[in-house]
Amino acid sequence: MLLGKQLARVEKKEVQTPPRPLGYPGPASPPGYIHDLEEGVTVTLDIEDFQYTYKCRHCGHEWSEKHTEKHVERPHKG
Ligand SMILES: [Zn+2]
Repeated sequence: MLLGKQLARVEKKEVQTPPRPLGYPGPASPPGYIHDLEEGVTVTLDIEDFQYTYKCRHCGHEWSEKHTEKHVERPHKG
């Protein structure tokens, strides 16, 4: 069972939107979070690392897992 979720780290990156989406060379479609942005604009990419803590219902041992979430802050127009 999940005990808690804690924000471990936040990284902000300024990126240019595709032609070439970050880290996805080749013909694969761009990742969803950047999918419907215009080309060639600068956006801020938030990369958030969350630490999830779990506890086993059966024997009570605890462990944690890291999950990364990415968000795009859309460019402001005007
Ligand atoms: Zn267990």
